[in-house]
Amino acid sequence: MTAQLIDKYHRNLNYLRVSITDRCNLECVYCRPGGLIPILPHAEILTYEEILRIVGVGLGLGISKVRITGGEPLVRRGVFDFLQKVAQLEGIRDLSLTTNGVMLRDNIERIRTAGIRRINVSLDTLDPRRYHRITGRNCFDRVWQGIEEAHAAGISPIKINVVALRGVNDDELTDMAALSLKYPFHIRFIEYMPMGMAARREKEKTMLTPEIRRHVETLGELSPVHRDASDGPAERFRLEGAKGEIGFISAISQHFCRQCNRLRLTASGQLRSCLLSDRQVDLKTPLRAGCSDDDIAAIFFEAVRHKPSAHRLASQQNVKGQMSAIGG
Ligand code: SAM
Repeated sequence: MTAQLIDKYHRNLNYLRVSITDRCNLECVYCRPGGLIPILPHAEILTYEEILRIVGVGLGLGISKVRITGGEPLVRRGVFDFLQKVAQLEGIRDLSLTTNGVMLRDNIERIRTAGIRRINVSLDTLDPRRYHRITGRNCFDRVWQGIEEAHAAGISPIKINVVALRGVNDDELTDMAALSLKYPFHIRFIEYMPMGMAARREKEKTMLTPEIRRHVETLGELSPVHRDASDGPAERFRLEGAKGEIGFISAISQHFCRQCNRLRLTASGQLRSCLLSDRQVDLKTPLRAGCSDDDIAAIFFEAVRHKPSAHRLASQQNVKGQMSAIGG
């Protein structure tokens, strides 16, 4: 039996989120506001071969669930072949993708063929002009068509990530939730996390789950959906008669650290045991110096040893790491 990545709080870390690039084709106000976030030089970003090797070692240590994220993962050249290679790694049970959906419409078949069966798409508004204001690009129609194409291609579930921000999209939260009445989508409301250089600008717009929930409940009663062990941190609900679900991800108001089963590999090759803590372990330098798989495994165990019992966002300075390099 192989060693498992179990930390001192008895959490089994079996979920690895991998940011394959810090580049993105959008400049969302709360993530990569225009011109504010410098991008990493190409040489600083892990190659696909390096990522595959790290993920392979992680799978041997009990990781079974992998999510590919970014930046925008679909902007990286060669991503579809890469996804296929990840899907073929021994030990992988669940491979998923988080995308802003801009490139979904034209690539859904390649994504499916690569082995992706479920995706998360980020969409904070249903108003094309507002979409442009939030993301800096006029791509709402493309994203919506991408979601429809993914649905038609049988990708399921499709989870729609909505970051709720006061004065930005708070008047649309019920409309977003109402999508779950018509479509089998999971609409997930995410509390804004103050991270990186965008933090100072958006912090006062934060909306916490109780307030978001009050908006959603104007549509009707929310019935809890039975959770299973593989569920992420979202609290899941359904509106009466709905085809889809509503989820709340309350990283700030009701953090779910006790159940956190995640490790993150950043685009620059740092292993991060908590999204909201800047302590991370360097994998890239030893990897490029020719380290062995056992050395990589030792670095996994070191990251696990440092995983905090809970994030300390309330008492610490803002997180310095950029969401776009870590991947969310
Ligand atoms: N580009 C992809 C996308 O847009 O889904 C993947 C990367 S993005 C960093 C992953 C998720 O993080 C998105 O759903 C995005 O809305 C969310 N996100 C980014 N910055 C955030 C923040 N400061 N607080 C909460 N969520 C954030």
